[in-house]
Amino acid sequence: MRDKCGIVGAYSRNKSINISRQIYYGLYALQHRGQESAGISAYNGDEISTFRGMGLVCDVFNNGNMEGMDGHVGIGHVRYSTTGKSKIENSQPFFSEFDSGTIAIAHNGDIINSMELRCELELLGYEFKSTTDSEVICHLLTREHSKTKEMVEVIRNVTKMLTGSYSLVILVNDDLFVVRDPSGIKPLSMGKMDDLTLVASETVAFDVVGANYVRDVEPGEILHINEKIISYKIPDEEKPRRAHCMFEYVYFARPDSILDGKSVYNVRLNIGKALSREFPADADVVMPVPDSAITAAIGYSRESGLGYGEGLIKNRYVGRTFIMPTQKERETSVRLKMNPIKSELEGKRIVLVDDSIVRGTTSRSLVKVLREAGAREIHLRVGCPPIISPCYYGIAMATKKELIASDKEVEEIRKTLGVDSLGYLSLESLIECIGIKNGNLCVGCLTGEYPTSMPNNIEEYEANRC
Ligand code: SF4
Repeated sequence: MRDKCGIVGAYSRNKSINISRQIYYGLYALQHRGQESAGISAYNGDEISTFRGMGLVCDVFNNGNMEGMDGHVGIGHVRYSTTGKSKIENSQPFFSEFDSGTIAIAHNGDIINSMELRCELELLGYEFKSTTDSEVICHLLTREHSKTKEMVEVIRNVTKMLTGSYSLVILVNDDLFVVRDPSGIKPLSMGKMDDLTLVASETVAFDVVGANYVRDVEPGEILHINEKIISYKIPDEEKPRRAHCMFEYVYFARPDSILDGKSVYNVRLNIGKALSREFPADADVVMPVPDSAITAAIGYSRESGLGYGEGLIKNRYVGRTFIMPTQKERETSVRLKMNPIKSELEGKRIVLVDDSIVRGTTSRSLVKVLREAGAREIHLRVGCPPIISPCYYGIAMATKKELIASDKEVEEIRKTLGVDSLGYLSLESLIECIGIKNGNLCVGCLTGEYPTSMPNNIEEYEANRC
């Protein structure tokens, strides 16, 4: 599974500070959200300069070389894409000249109706350099700006055209605008340190530069950040229900982040404890699938009284984009990523905790690896309910028919994976563990009920999205 991006925006009232370094460190902290490309745009008092490249943040910026990226206000982006569309043209920030200067934009999310919007813009003569929905937003902004010069009104008008998920940082010369979609599907927080205001997909981006988390950007809110911070909230009568992505808590976000006021670490501990109560196991030891299930496994261990151990060691130098063309090579890739510790596994009955199961292929391979290393029994416990439907909001999971739980019951999945028992956390428990009231979370991939309207032609949409 891949999320589509992490974003950072920064404004310093102290104009002698070069903001690009803070953005660089923020992107470094958000590297888990996207490892295919990185970029920064900064306003140097005269113009916006942008630098983008393919690869990790440290490689793109040559271990912190920020030459030519001066400025007291800027935005940054790290990106994932789906296979085959990973190219420099699609990296961000995306920028465009318009009648009042330059506009640069960085986007986390997925615009469901971007193909229709793109067609409309192409008919009007707009040319596209990329296949991203971020460029669609950029063109919509410049088109609206030609009608009204008031930037907040421009943004408000454009957001009314968008269906889907979006957290945006927009740089218009030296003005920073911050936007979160009306349901708050993607996370976005604000932090402060002295003269510096930061916004980022996750609060870990504040920690790394020593800034304090202030609050989350509210769903539907627009912030205009310059010498002052001005907030424009969505009128109550236009507010849809909140729908924060449950998967950020279960898997994507770093455990040391706080999302919409909830500590991801505490949520994952709660998930492990709840799993232990819902699905106890007669076993010797609790082990995580590293890294994302470590906290939940600790929670399971604490609640059950079973010891916590490590049975698999992850090779952290194998990128998430590591793709193998054949089944045999894919099995090799699992072994490259995870190596068992035989002495910890031989003859043991283990509770194996994982955050989620998507296709089931990795789980099946891991079970094989653990059995070959001598595990006597494997009781798999999963930190969220079965994923039965795809995500349309920017998390590239799989198509519906690829999801193991889309057409199989739990017992059938257990047999397919080759485990002795299988327990998925219930939806009620998951909601309780997150601590955000039912109805304010997106659980679309678990129930098939989504918080926004869906594309008219799902197959065409899935074939074309990037
Ligand atoms: S469909 Fe699932 S992964 Fe996508 S935003 Fe909703 S909860 Fe998150």
